[in-house]
Amino acid sequence: MAAPFLSIQHVKKSFGDNTVVQDFNLDVEPGEFVSFLGPSGCGKTTVLRMVAGFEEPTAGKIFIAGKDVTNLKPNQRNIGMVFQAYALFPNLTVAQNIAFGLKVAGASKADQDKRVAEMLNIIKLPQLGDRYPYQLSGGQQQRVALARALAPSPKLLLLDEPLSALDAKVRVSLRDEIRSIQKRLGITTIFVTHDQEEALSISDRIVVMYGGVAEQVATPFEIYNRPSTKFVANFVGTLNVLEGTVVDPALGKVRVNNDEIAVKHSLNGAKRGDAVSLALRPEAMALGDYSGHDTELHGKITDVHFLGSVIRVRVNLGAETIALDTFNNSRTPPPTIGDSTKVTFASNDVLVLH
Ligand code: ATP
Repeated sequence: MAAPFLSIQHVKKSFGDNTVVQDFNLDVEPGEFVSFLGPSGCGKTTVLRMVAGFEEPTAGKIFIAGKDVTNLKPNQRNIGMVFQAYALFPNLTVAQNIAFGLKVAGASKADQDKRVAEMLNIIKLPQLGDRYPYQLSGGQQQRVALARALAPSPKLLLLDEPLSALDAKVRVSLRDEIRSIQKRLGITTIFVTHDQEEALSISDRIVVMYGGVAEQVATPFEIYNRPSTKFVANFVGTLNVLEGTVVDPALGKVRVNNDEIAVKHSLNGAKRGDAVSLALRPEAMALGDYSGHDTELHGKITDVHFLGSVIRVRVNLGAETIALDTFNNSRTPPPTIGDSTKVTFASNDVLVLH
């Protein structure tokens, strides 16, 4: 494995008595796209700002390309940054905005012009170099902000919720564009977002943060399918969390309400009588028998939502209500509210949460 391009080691940040980031550790590979995902106030921006050099860690070290940058100023770190609000200089044209970092670095006018033309092509706005920021849409302004950040060829790109001020359609198209530009340039990137769909769709890996702690660091596939903590399970996607009691740890038998279900994954050392939190995705369950489904719960249908290709059904199990998705196959009529039902699933799909 290549040496990490960015290494954040035991970083902590306190503002007065308030510790907002605790023992944060992360290695990012060269060219990797890593998202920090979490609710407002979980410390994502603070970690990003420490990587950028706008905040000083209370403890710990940060290395970029093997060099300890913990005490270096932002302009000594070779990073590009894009913020949520369009931070373009309003009195400069698009071309002057993009050239800004090059000019500061002392590049010749010819080199600046060449690079600005390149960047305008990369962000697909070749004709707009002479416009002022107020003459651009929000999406165009963020593209220019991206071009300005990338123009000096930084080795690390930091994106702080760059899409959150844009409307839904522009957000999706710019998200895909950022990813394709990032891949093309091979630039190591950290992307801060509170939007789980955004993080799942754009990232090589996701750091899910809560309360200043990295709860889980993994690929989108793993984060979605194998959340390791209750917080991650609840935050990422719709997930049913079930509280159970261990009946037989060796055989993976757990009581949930009036049913005893089988669980394949390790019960984390829980003993008979211990409480365990389990999670099941809506798409992992079926109403009635289904091939490969070897364990079941029983309840009553309380809600049926026809969503087109999928029908979302809520089933009350007694103490809890779970949501499950069945595919609409146009031949079977939708389930009926009030019916008693069996909910089946594979014991291997029951997640055990910490
Ligand atoms: P958001 O998505 O809302 O930006 P976030 O996850 O990025 O949230 P941070 O901005 O990193 O969260 O803030 C984490 C915590 O640190 C918050 O409780 C915030 O109030 C606090 N905080 C951030 N900057 C400062 C500061 N300069 N002085 C005091 N407290 C701060």
